[in-house]
Amino acid sequence: MARHRSCSEAAVDNLPCTGPQQKSEWYWSEWTLSMILAGTRHIQRYAPQKEKHIQSHSAQTSMKTISEEMSKNWLTSWEFLQSKKLHCLIIKSLTVPDIFLYNNLTSVYSKFNNSNYARHVFDQIPNPNIYSWNTILSTYSKSGQLYEMQEIFDRMRSPDAVSWNSVISGHANYGTLEDSVNAYRLMLKCSFVNLSRITFSTMLILAIKHASVTLGMQVHGHIWKFGFVSYVFVGSPLVDFYSKTRRINDAKRVFDELSDRNSVVYNTMISGFFRCGMPEDSKHLFRKMPETDSVSWTAMVTGLTENGLGSEAVDIFREMILERFIIDQFTFGSVLTARGGLSSLKQGKQIHAFIIRTGYKDNIFVGSALVDMYSKCRSIHYAENVFKQMAHKNIVSWTALIVGYGQNGLSEEALRILCEMQRNGIYPDDYTLGSVISSCANLASVEEGAEFHGQALVSGLISFITVSNALITLYGKCGSIEGSHKLFNEMHVKDEVSWAALVSAYAQFGKANESIDLFEQMLEKGMKPDGVTFIGVLSACSRAGLVDKGYQYFDSMVKVNGIKPTLGQYSCMIDLLSRAGKLEEAKDFIHKMPCSPDSIGWSTLLSSCRFHNNLEIGKWAADCLLELVPEDPAGYILLSSIYAANGMRDEVSGLRRVMRDKGLIKTPGYSWIKYKNKVHEFSADDRSNPFSDKIYAELDILYTKMIDIGYKPDTNSILHDVEETEKIKMLNHHSERLAIAFGLIFIPSGLPIRVTKNLRVCGDCHNATKFISKIVQREILVRDSTRYHLFKDGTCSCGDFW
Ligand SMILES: [Zn+2]
Ligand SMILES: [Zn+2]
Repeated sequence: MARHRSCSEAAVDNLPCTGPQQKSEWYWSEWTLSMILAGTRHIQRYAPQKEKHIQSHSAQTSMKTISEEMSKNWLTSWEFLQSKKLHCLIIKSLTVPDIFLYNNLTSVYSKFNNSNYARHVFDQIPNPNIYSWNTILSTYSKSGQLYEMQEIFDRMRSPDAVSWNSVISGHANYGTLEDSVNAYRLMLKCSFVNLSRITFSTMLILAIKHASVTLGMQVHGHIWKFGFVSYVFVGSPLVDFYSKTRRINDAKRVFDELSDRNSVVYNTMISGFFRCGMPEDSKHLFRKMPETDSVSWTAMVTGLTENGLGSEAVDIFREMILERFIIDQFTFGSVLTARGGLSSLKQGKQIHAFIIRTGYKDNIFVGSALVDMYSKCRSIHYAENVFKQMAHKNIVSWTALIVGYGQNGLSEEALRILCEMQRNGIYPDDYTLGSVISSCANLASVEEGAEFHGQALVSGLISFITVSNALITLYGKCGSIEGSHKLFNEMHVKDEVSWAALVSAYAQFGKANESIDLFEQMLEKGMKPDGVTFIGVLSACSRAGLVDKGYQYFDSMVKVNGIKPTLGQYSCMIDLLSRAGKLEEAKDFIHKMPCSPDSIGWSTLLSSCRFHNNLEIGKWAADCLLELVPEDPAGYILLSSIYAANGMRDEVSGLRRVMRDKGLIKTPGYSWIKYKNKVHEFSADDRSNPFSDKIYAELDILYTKMIDIGYKPDTNSILHDVEETEKIKMLNHHSERLAIAFGLIFIPSGLPIRVTKNLRVCGDCHNATKFISKIVQREILVRDSTRYHLFKDGTCSCGDFW
């Protein structure tokens, strides 16, 4: 682009000074002016192409924002000024410009979307030809001035294919479905000779936009009737239409029937298979392609990533580099998403290095994807650095960083950056605010929840259902079920997601009956529950031990609502059965599942086995879990505590050896507590807090009192080979206990103590906190990575199951 711009820039800058006294000294031919105008128009071609390219990759981020940013970057006011300068020249130097020059000038103004100037030039043309008419028509069509468009069209004596297509696409892009269909019908009736592949593509895109299967199929019929069927340029939008309306077999048939196939239609079919969850077919077709291009490779990287096959996506990306295909920002975007999903920091850094080498470092899209990748790999500091070094930032980049903070449990920081973004003049839209709130939901405090609520009210974005729904979930997760319910009641419009959020909030809070009641109300109101709502109600049943009811809901989900169970609902059923102690039944259920449980399913069964002390099934679950995630220490720890409970000391030390040999270390645990607007963070055995002496003294006093009323430390989770007393000391200094002790010292009595932990609370700390709540007679709220625990008078709201 730089080259085009500089040529044109040079051409215009070399124009002599314009002034009446100099007029005699120079003469511009119409031809020269036309050429310069054509050059200016040439610059323009870049922007629309880029925009189209972006739209096809809309999965990753808010496209509206990117195209806005791009149009800002590409369409500077510079070119527009140059055109006006030329227009002045024309007026000054030529008395009667010819139609060629007029048309070019109209066309330049049209490219800059300045319909007033374009119309002004058009109206001066004495005898406009078809090109003049079509130019002004397309100006109105592109700018959505449908009334003016129709007025021009009605004045035309013999519209051609271009004119018809302008009118149809104007209605398709800016008007109603009905108007576009009427224009199309009129064309079929009066001017079918002018039908072209563009007409059919426009109508098919319209059918996709309105998810109108009938319209698409009618257009397919016309394509047959008018003999366009084997035409590859019509084939591609047809394949796209069928795959986007999830009729993959029809898409495949159209593809197979094409006599000639180019890479575009192959790429569309590959993406279609991916969209319908058929990655194997995509891979097969990709390997069969006579000739691949960068778009095919990028489609593979994107599709594999979106189908959860991150490591295959990275392999394809490597192959793409070896084959020397051009890698653009979209390929980088997809592969970084794949990397983020796999949480592999090392490979993420390799790609980062490659991005620096290929000069994509300053690309706003790639930069934002890097921020996103590093936050997903839990390396928020790298994410921060990339963000700081970005030359340009837009709302996508800011959102990536803020959501990153949320995902890494730093909701306080997320809030701070959200405000900073607004100070920089960038305001959140509903998408940004919704995703920020959702990302913080897991670890925010009630106060932060209220602040997000405030942001939503101030910005007026609360009226967006996505934002309100995210807030319901946030309130539920930070332990304010009242906040959730109040907001739910205040919403004028509620959708399935709002109900699902409240059902899940009650379930997670341990209020199983309320959750089930709400679910029943939802059904009575004729709302259709989705898979997420079923996860909510199934986990409620599991909490309340309602095995039969849970089964009944599961059946109705499949039979009545036609929802194909996913691993999420299967895990709920495993939880329901195993928590109720029906471990054999859970085992049978797993055998009957069409797929194997994921790591969550196996861990659920394994922790139940630990709870109910079932060695045999526990060992089976652990074997399956360790096969699936051999690098995760959690499985070893659970299994070793089952061994320990059964007095199998040799097995316990065997497991510890394996862990040591593999170099598996537990992710360091952190706990936070907020006091006087400051977050105090603790790690195990942490002495960095200025009040450490007081905190450790408090813990010692508590320990003695706990022992007195029957607390027995459970040292099974400690894998170090140290003396028993040392182990007890280590347990007593776990991060959550330091945070709780801090709270007991500083937070005035009568107020609950709220602690947040980045990992699951360990078994011994859970037990100890119950004792502490009894001794100090205060409510202690602990939010860990999986749920919410309210400790009160020696019990916990989770029912000892989490
Ligand atoms: Zn602990
Ligand atoms: Zn609990």
